Amino acid sequence: REKLLEVQNLKKYFPIKGGVLQRTIGHVKAVDDVSFDLYKGETLGIVGESGSGKSTLGRTILRLLDPTEGNIIFEGDDISKLSNRKMRPYRKDMQMVFQDPFASLNPRMSVGEIIEEPMIVQKILNSAERKEKVLDLLEKVGLPPEARNKYPHEFSGGQRQRIGIARSLTLNPKLIIGDEPVSALDVSVQSQVLNLMEDLQDDFNLTYLFIAHDLSVVKHISDRIAVMYLGKIAEISPKDDLFAKPLHPYTQALLSAVPIPDVQRKREKITLKGELPSPSNPPSGCPFHTRCPEVHDRCKVELPELTEQGNGQYVACHLYTTEK
Ligand code: SF4
Ligand code: MG
Repeated sequence: REKLLEVQNLKKYFPIKGGVLQRTIGHVKAVDDVSFDLYKGETLGIVGESGSGKSTLGRTILRLLDPTEGNIIFEGDDISKLSNRKMRPYRKDMQMVFQDPFASLNPRMSVGEIIEEPMIVQKILNSAERKEKVLDLLEKVGLPPEARNKYPHEFSGGQRQRIGIARSLTLNPKLIIGDEPVSALDVSVQSQVLNLMEDLQDDFNLTYLFIAHDLSVVKHISDRIAVMYLGKIAEISPKDDLFAKPLHPYTQALLSAVPIPDVQRKREKITLKGELPSPSNPPSGCPFHTRCPEVHDRCKVELPELTEQGNGQYVACHLYTTEK
């Protein structure tokens, strides 16, 4: 399979300023040494609590934020250090669909203008062709042609997300990063928007990085799922394997909270003790050790590396490594 994106040892640290001189006194390690490949046409779900770094990861990959360290290889080109000007040709290939469609749509622009704008900025197609494309995209996302003359506030949350998705498609992107695109929607509307995104993936040959805080949201749409904890990947596995045989104790805990009606075997709900530690002061050794039900001495001092356990399941946990 062909790789669309390779993320290599990516770090995004935010400085913490303090004291009267506002000197840097520490760092929030939002993304801390993350590596994974994304294959053309696949959907990788990224799951984690708020504070796990998943949104920062998405924004850094799109170069909306500058990485602190590491490489972002898009179709073989390292884009991690490109200037804004050199990034421009790549921008149209990668789009983001945001959590709050209302905040991301200009309220003073009609829906037609909102969808057309990226084509004007990138100077593609003439006016008549752009209008045609707007109508085509409205149809593709399940909105009537009249929608183009209306304004965002005239639509429901689900419809606004359809508008946001239409806008993200105007430049024929290759990669779409969804930053919790259905989290703000009612559950019934969520599945409609997820189904739409699946249909569009095939029509437009899209690759998705789909960020969510909940495993149940990414269950249907993902081919693989990465679980993040305190800026690191705890486990990355093919979806079916992750649900059938979660390896990392954190994945096991997350999964125990997902109700699965059609499963015979009963799952005990695993309740994690304590709060998510601060990413500015992460625990030593395994970042999960302060809350892990399986913690042992080694976990407190040695950072577990992400290692393959066969059939494409990778886990960062000492239960699966031998002592050096
Ligand atoms: Fe738990 Fe230790 Fe594995 Fe970390 S390395 S997840 S603390 S068992
Ligand atoms: Mg798919």
